[in-house]
Amino acid sequence: MSTAVRGNTEVLSGKELASRIQQHARDEARILHSEGLRITLAVVVATEDESTHWYVRSIERAAERAGIACRIVDLGPDASEQALAGVLEDLSAEPTVHGIILQTPLPAAVRADRLVGLIVPGKDIDGANPLSLGRLAVGQPAFAPATAQAVVELLDHFQVPIAGRNVAVVGRSAVVGKPLALLLLERDATVTICHSKSGPLERYTRPADVVVVAAGRTGLLKGSHLSPETVVIDVGTNVLPDGSLVGDVDEASVTGVAAGLSPVPGGVGSVTTALLLLHTAEAARQQSHAALLTASTSRI
Ligand code: NAP
Repeated sequence: MSTAVRGNTEVLSGKELASRIQQHARDEARILHSEGLRITLAVVVATEDESTHWYVRSIERAAERAGIACRIVDLGPDASEQALAGVLEDLSAEPTVHGIILQTPLPAAVRADRLVGLIVPGKDIDGANPLSLGRLAVGQPAFAPATAQAVVELLDHFQVPIAGRNVAVVGRSAVVGKPLALLLLERDATVTICHSKSGPLERYTRPADVVVVAAGRTGLLKGSHLSPETVVIDVGTNVLPDGSLVGDVDEASVTGVAAGLSPVPGGVGSVTTALLLLHTAEAARQQSHAALLTASTSRI
């Protein structure tokens, strides 16, 4: 594992880990291909937002590199809830599709919480269906949202201890903060979840050994919020007016205080994409086993 250090703060880059996970997904894809199965990930899009299309293209390119087919279903920004529901139901039933992502943002009139429930859990490779979150909550097998899992994988990669440590998670969304808290709890961390009504952040972040920020607020976490030796994982992605991408951490003040910081870009993001592909390969493997089992049972 190679690391860089900036003013006593180790840079927790996601590059090496992402390429390791990508390689794992590629190996799985090759094995399944040799068994006659072409893994396919479907990404459903209904927006004109340029940064979303950029992100979807990056998933498509990464999938191609891993030998996974990527089917983009673009319904445009005026898509109705009914049309999106129909597509998700069709993809859930389609045996040649193994993983499904419903990309946000969605049209304003559409109820995303209803739609994600239509993604069958076995293909819910980004843990969007509330059933997946429920299963995570009770420790049953489910695909975790890839970003939440990417944070845990990054901590493991850099050998940051989790068990018995205090972790502050800033953000309580169903896609990042809550599932991440569940994953950390499963690993025996003591987790505090902060949100916009929590009051002064330092009350929770100063006693923490690890701080994860997923709020979508530029410069939210500053060096003054931390004790020395804290490890900081920045999940935020904010596009500045000049088009550049930054996280939620004020890097200038945090560098030199934190023991480690995963940067944006270059931290959690690439690991998230790699995990989406690995989850798709795992889903394909599970579906192929289930199909074989059904075929052999029907012969009995
Ligand atoms: P979200 O649904 O908008 O949730 C943001 C959370 O942050 C909310 O719980 C909110 O609290 C909390 N928050 C906002 N301002 C705060 C403040 N001043 N102090 C404390 N908490 C505050 O966003 P999300 O979908 O979870 O995403 C969070 C960030 O992660 C975004 O920047 C997003 O782009 C990024 N993201 C990155 C990846 C990746 O792969 N790198 C993937 C997904 C998301 P309330 O609940 O009280 O409103």
